Amino acid sequence: MGHDHHQTPARAAALQASYASSTTPELLRAMMTREFPGRLAVVSSFGAESAVILHLVSRIAPATPVIFLDTGKLFGQTAAYRQQLTDWLGLKDVRVIVPNAGDLAKRDPAGDLWRRDPDACCAIRKVAPLRAALAGFDAWITGRKSFQGGARAKLPVIETAGKMIKINPLTHWPVQWIDDYYAAHALPRHPLHEFGFTSIGCHPCTVPAGQGDTRSGRWAGTDKTECGIHTHL
Ligand code: SF4
Repeated sequence: MGHDHHQTPARAAALQASYASSTTPELLRAMMTREFPGRLAVVSSFGAESAVILHLVSRIAPATPVIFLDTGKLFGQTAAYRQQLTDWLGLKDVRVIVPNAGDLAKRDPAGDLWRRDPDACCAIRKVAPLRAALAGFDAWITGRKSFQGGARAKLPVIETAGKMIKINPLTHWPVQWIDDYYAAHALPRHPLHEFGFTSIGCHPCTVPAGQGDTRSGRWAGTDKTECGIHTHL
């Protein structure tokens, strides 16, 4: 990525202003076809609510790159669901990204770094591989929502993230819209959803959420609420 493609807060603010009154599909179409054609990727966990953004994207341009981070610590059900949803939606370019083998051998040879230092574990299993995967893009789309609470409560639709633009088209969607969208389009749910998992990540760091903050089941019992993807990229 050269300096030509360096995205700035001013660009984010201009985009935010231009598309403030757009519907979610209009915004996505504009970002994918007008503002960042060929320069934009979707990052998806294929988790509890991921089908909404993936469905919207698949309707506009199913060949859009979708980056999926396989940390090596995911639930088996997530891989099955990824395949199911990929086929269901006709996604043409799902890219499975894995941690660097050398980093794992050196820093987490026993696979228990998550227990000792979850930030370090996320750094090698999530942040570094995602950074590498995004290197050729100018913008990425996330499925984050304000109702997820914590650091996400005031999430803008468009923001800068390092040298990139990060687009959060669902930020203002209430949880009811998500549920309604799944029903309206008969989208398959993640297999763990019916067991009370509202935010699904790595198995050592995810338990079913209680009432309220839908991400309360992530790193339960610790102060940690973000994996570093959204604070370091
Ligand atoms: Fe490691 Fe847990 Fe982070 Fe997954 S969520 S990368 S297991 S610390």
